[in-house]
Amino acid sequence: MLTTAADDDRQEQDRLILDSVEKFLEREVKPHAMALEHADSYPHDIVEGMKELGLFGALISPDYGGLGLSPSLYARMIERIARVWMSLTGIINSHLIMAYIVEHRGTEAQKRRFLPRFATGELRGGLALTEPDCGTDLQAIRTVARRDGEDYLVKGTKIWISNGIEGQCFALLVKTDLAAEPRHKGMSMLLAEKREGFGVSRKLEKLGYKGIDSAELIFEDYRVPADCLIGGEEGRGLQCALSGLELGRVNVAARGVGIAQAALDEAVAYSQQRKTFGKPIHQHQAIALKLADMATRTEAARLLVEQAANALDRGERCDMEAGMAKLFASEAAIDNAMECMRIFGGYGYSKEFVVERLYRDAPLLAIGEGTNELQRLLIAKRLIERNPA
Ligand SMILES: Cc1cc2nc3c(=O)[nH]c(=O)nc-3n(C[C@H](O)[C@H](O)[C@H](O)COP(=O)(O)OP(=O)(O)OC[C@H]3O[C@@H](n4cnc5c(N)ncnc54)[C@H](O)[C@@H]3O)c2cc1C
Repeated sequence: MLTTAADDDRQEQDRLILDSVEKFLEREVKPHAMALEHADSYPHDIVEGMKELGLFGALISPDYGGLGLSPSLYARMIERIARVWMSLTGIINSHLIMAYIVEHRGTEAQKRRFLPRFATGELRGGLALTEPDCGTDLQAIRTVARRDGEDYLVKGTKIWISNGIEGQCFALLVKTDLAAEPRHKGMSMLLAEKREGFGVSRKLEKLGYKGIDSAELIFEDYRVPADCLIGGEEGRGLQCALSGLELGRVNVAARGVGIAQAALDEAVAYSQQRKTFGKPIHQHQAIALKLADMATRTEAARLLVEQAANALDRGERCDMEAGMAKLFASEAAIDNAMECMRIFGGYGYSKEFVVERLYRDAPLLAIGEGTNELQRLLIAKRLIERNPA
């Protein structure tokens, strides 16, 4: 394909950005990831470094103080971070979904007020959708926001909220009309900053994805100024959430590629060091077949992520492509982590190697940003819509 000088400049710029992220990961993250993970400690120092690199503003337009990276470059960056420590991707991603919703759905006043502080990482947070009684069926949420003078008065509970303890601001999905039909017409999204009435009731203990805080949030007589209603109009909450989730799914898919690649790299290296029956284990056909399947899955997942991220770059609707990428890449991560553990034998089960972390982190990718069952339903629905009989 022919390329222009502008394309060459952009590619060079992208390469420099990825290089600086790689250097940061090598110097500031790799040496500490294992200890922070096992202690389940929030990586305060690393977060300071991420702020300096501008990662909290990665996707925010330069007009509001961000780096304005394309979703496809962002996906490549997330893959690299996930290869080293997946938890860090959650610290920036749910924050950037919130920022993405404000930038694409918010009023100009909201963009000017919030985006510059999101971009520096001074004000960080995430997305608060899930409730104790519902995650997939978002239209069943019960957190209510009632108009009271110049404010909304919020009551309800959210669960599993990433950055819930360390974050200070959340894109909060609420019901502003409980009786509305269809149900989504009664849903709105607020920008909710921590203040009186916004409580964190507990940190949730998890199988993996340690270091990043996942919390239950309680809202009790919590007041949000009406000018924090995203877009300034009630009834748009579900659209806000879904537009953010397209980006979120590409991000989860990119994490999947990162985990799949990390498992492959570990397996390729170990299979050349470890000998059984007088030869390196990669020379046993049973191991060689595993390596080939792992490598093929990883490349296929990467191409699906690239396809979905490129569609996002062009501003196209890509829920089907993002769903396919998320579904395939998350399953590739799970399969590769398991195969890597088998290849490592007993050492795969040891906490001294990263394999067990990959194995614990991977299953989250089949759940977060819409379960893989939901992705399959969505893909099938779009397939029929695009191919009417
Ligand atoms: C570590 C972690 C971090 C998270 N971070 C966040 C966050 O930052 N913000 C946030 O809002 N949420 C977050 N979540 C919540 C996550 O998005 C939900 O757990 C997920 O959407 C699934 O919802 P659920 O757990 O209520 O499962 P349910 O909706 O109860 O689903 C249970 C099972 O039923 C299946 N199912 C449901 N409906 C259907 C259907 N129609 N057809 C077929 N199968 C169906 C599901 O696929 C699943 O297998 C996080 C979760 C975890 C574990």
